[in-house]
Amino acid sequence: MHIHSFKERRRIYNVIGTIRGVVEPDRYVILGGHRDSWVFGGIDPQSGAAVVHEIVRSFGKLKQQGWRPRRTVIFASWDAEEFGLIGSTEWAEVKYSFCSSFLSGNYTLRVDCTPLMYSLIPSPDEGFEGKSLYESWLAKNPSKEHQGTPRINKLGSGNDFEVFFQRLGIASGRARYTKDFKVAKYSSYPLYHSVYETYELVEQFYDPTFKNHLAVAHVRGGMVFELADFVLVPFDCRDYAQALSSYASIIYNMSLDHQEALKTYKVSFDSLFDAVNNFSEAARDFHQRLQLLDMNNPIEVRSRNDQLMFLERAFIDPLGLPGRPFYRHIIFAPNKHNKYAGVSFPGIHDALFDITHKADQHKAWEEVKRQISIAAFTVAAAAGTLEETV
Ligand SMILES: [Zn+2]
Repeated sequence: MHIHSFKERRRIYNVIGTIRGVVEPDRYVILGGHRDSWVFGGIDPQSGAAVVHEIVRSFGKLKQQGWRPRRTVIFASWDAEEFGLIGSTEWAEVKYSFCSSFLSGNYTLRVDCTPLMYSLIPSPDEGFEGKSLYESWLAKNPSKEHQGTPRINKLGSGNDFEVFFQRLGIASGRARYTKDFKVAKYSSYPLYHSVYETYELVEQFYDPTFKNHLAVAHVRGGMVFELADFVLVPFDCRDYAQALSSYASIIYNMSLDHQEALKTYKVSFDSLFDAVNNFSEAARDFHQRLQLLDMNNPIEVRSRNDQLMFLERAFIDPLGLPGRPFYRHIIFAPNKHNKYAGVSFPGIHDALFDITHKADQHKAWEEVKRQISIAAFTVAAAAGTLEETV
């Protein structure tokens, strides 16, 4: 194969729109997507960009009727995503130096709240006429760990949320229509990034009536609305506790392939499980106190919201992961071997990965122990941020 490429200097443009919040203008909800594409970009990015545009249009309508969000909403059309997430990363790096806080949609979004929202959205799926999006989501992709809830995936990367989530610790999320993983096991769609990814492809095969696009716009728009306008930020830290405990078990089980070595090198996960248990307790207590919160006391409300919002930040290790200083989230990182997928407790995961082939076994297992300490310390510190404030 002959490849002809060249280097040149090009200007890129992020397009940013803002609706200033009335009560907490210094708290931000960001909804963004990229605009640049490999070729025509029928699916990546234009299906996403169209959804962002539609949400901007609907928020514009609300604004015309005199509505203003409680918090500031920022809409972003990023440039140069395909060249290495450049537009979003540069924007976040510059902004972050003078903005102390961000919010955006998230993994820890209340599961007892989102079902309410999804139940209002009609399902576009065949065979689910008259049912809600939540019902079809639950039926087609149920969670393996938690009965009766739909599956929520870990965030990987290869997309613009990376700098916000993996580097800065800003709660993030994404919502999109996807394929049936039981049938299609490949990691992307067949025409991904190719010259065949055209508008016609989407119009003729993927979403002829654009009802899936509309459903995604409803979900994302609803999330932005809730995050921007609810007096209490709709995060539930108990969900984070539940996730942490299942991730701790997963990483522990991964280590069980090496029973002998665990004994020889005295490797213990006790500190991590202790920290996770303390976190769960702290989250339960926090949630209990939240029920007693005086919603008419703006200082108290602000303080609780800050605890919820900054919780994600508590999982950031300024030193970053070994050999990957830009990835600083201790709980989640893109998989080292597949950037699009996510792994939990990446430091421990990477240290355990292929460990039997490492030359110096003593050193390799010392590194596992070091990573367990870092994870335990970080989880314990995060639990501390949920304690009662004066
Ligand atoms: Zn792409």
